[in-house]
Amino acid sequence: MGPRGAGIVLALVGAGLAVAAVAGVPERVAQARLLNSPELRVLLVTAAPERSCRYVLKAAQSVLEEEGVPFGVVSAVALLARLPDGNFVRRHPVAIALDCVARSLPEDFGPWADRYVRAGGVLVASFDAGTRDRRGRFRAVGVLTGVLGVEAITYQRRRAGAYTTGRILILRRDWLEVPPGKTTPESQLLTGYIYGPLTYPIAAAEARQADVLLVADAVTPTGEHVPGVTLRRVGRGWAMFANPPLGHLKSYSDDLLLRLIVQLAVLRLTRLPHLHPSPHALGGLVINWHVDADLDRKAVAIMLERRYLRAGLRPSLHVTAGPFRDRPGDNLGFDACGQGEPLVRAMARYGVVGSHGGWAHNWFSTRLAAGRLSPREIEALIRRNSDCLERITGRRVDEYSAPNGVHPPLVTRILERLGFVAYYYTGDSGSPPTRTFLDGRRVSDRVWAFPVMTFGRVASLTELGRAGVPEAVVDAGLRAIADFVVRNRTVRLIYSHPYDVLRYPVAVRRFIERVDTLARQARLEVRPMGEYARFFSRFVRARATFAWKDSVTLRAVVRNPLSVADIPVAVPREYGLVRARADRPVRLYQRIDPTFRYLYTLQPARRLEMEFRLAP
Ligand SMILES: [Zn+2]
Repeated sequence: MGPRGAGIVLALVGAGLAVAAVAGVPERVAQARLLNSPELRVLLVTAAPERSCRYVLKAAQSVLEEEGVPFGVVSAVALLARLPDGNFVRRHPVAIALDCVARSLPEDFGPWADRYVRAGGVLVASFDAGTRDRRGRFRAVGVLTGVLGVEAITYQRRRAGAYTTGRILILRRDWLEVPPGKTTPESQLLTGYIYGPLTYPIAAAEARQADVLLVADAVTPTGEHVPGVTLRRVGRGWAMFANPPLGHLKSYSDDLLLRLIVQLAVLRLTRLPHLHPSPHALGGLVINWHVDADLDRKAVAIMLERRYLRAGLRPSLHVTAGPFRDRPGDNLGFDACGQGEPLVRAMARYGVVGSHGGWAHNWFSTRLAAGRLSPREIEALIRRNSDCLERITGRRVDEYSAPNGVHPPLVTRILERLGFVAYYYTGDSGSPPTRTFLDGRRVSDRVWAFPVMTFGRVASLTELGRAGVPEAVVDAGLRAIADFVVRNRTVRLIYSHPYDVLRYPVAVRRFIERVDTLARQARLEVRPMGEYARFFSRFVRARATFAWKDSVTLRAVVRNPLSVADIPVAVPREYGLVRARADRPVRLYQRIDPTFRYLYTLQPARRLEMEFRLAP
């Protein structure tokens, strides 16, 4: 895979530099070191430590790692000892006070936050941040109300009505890059796959200042519109309020809002140097075909004939291999190791063949959903499916998608054991590949969830067809997804079935042609799930530090025990590379867009150092 469209900037020969590792440092010392260090970091602000909030912190840390954003966890009390001046803001341009973990911020944190924002900082506050005192009682006025211009605690006036639920109505897509299809077509309400508009826990917040920009509303069950996401320009900085509990939601398989808010604060409002989470800083598309049953045999043949499968675009082709579908002997299966075998061979030339569950599509999913399969039976069925496919392709099966989306966490543990690295996921919809959380815990550190992109409440073309969506609308929707991943240089998964091709022939053909063109223009890559999963597993092992050497010189050091290959370092575009070295000879490539400059190498170096200077 060549870096088409990327400029070669220089070739260099490396020289070693020893880096001391710090381990087992007490928390207070670590915080002081963090705040004294010249390194740039986002601050995750905690109030008095509450054990019951640790899951929120873990969820947020997981997202920041996946976003490649350098960060540190610091207590509000430690921050109060620091002067939040321009120099401080230059090193810590974003401070995030999350739900739960920042609930009981000290009173003095209000004036501190105000000075921090006036000096140019971006403050993000979510849900109940700063709304309680040290003993957990509701405050009359929130600690951050002044700077946010929004009152998040209305207990004195509303009592039990201070907390309610609400749907999130996106008002300003120009500020919040909500993926297409994540809202309903008829309104701009955030929507989940199958569920329709999602209902979030929210505070019955009230705007207190006229200069508060409403990015999203929260609409309560009684129809009241309260601030959902707000932005306020204060001095040289920004104060942002995100009403839903971002960290809590992330830890319960609703990743998107936290990620969008982090991206707005870190990429858009501050342009913080970071590692960019897509290979070669390109848009990435996982096209996941689910090959369910005998009907797909004809459809796969048509796809091959019409060149919907073609060189250069490598989809994830997941097959349910058995000869039956609903019950043994019905002969409704794809029969990969029988009648379907020549098709599996032909498909394997264009993409990666993965697993679509345990041997028989509906038979497996119904029994799994009803709890009628033991872990040992589930494992045996998934193994049986893989064994058949591996025999044909000679390649290990390491990608999975659940038939009918039935995927209890137990299945992920089985996948882990069987050496899978990625799976199609109906939670966290609209998000990039992620190590998903469920019930406050990360489900797996090794197997990556690939959330599906939706069209409102549906995702596959079959479902669009059933909902009677016209072909022109499908065509526009698919195009919007391709444009979204290109514009945001991000990775997303879409899925459908081969027989859907017959339902929307024009939309599918146009989509394939468009994606092919974008790939040829080096604006997008279509790669299988497993490849992206391996990239992201390596990506989260990378440690990057960015530090100011002087007022115009930025130093970046990236280390990765596995390799830094393909992982882009992003700095504001006006900073030009002046020096670089690595632990082995590498060639650097760069891409530039209106906001950032991205540099990466294709060679498996383990340490890369770069120096950038502000162009005069
Ligand atoms: Zn299926």
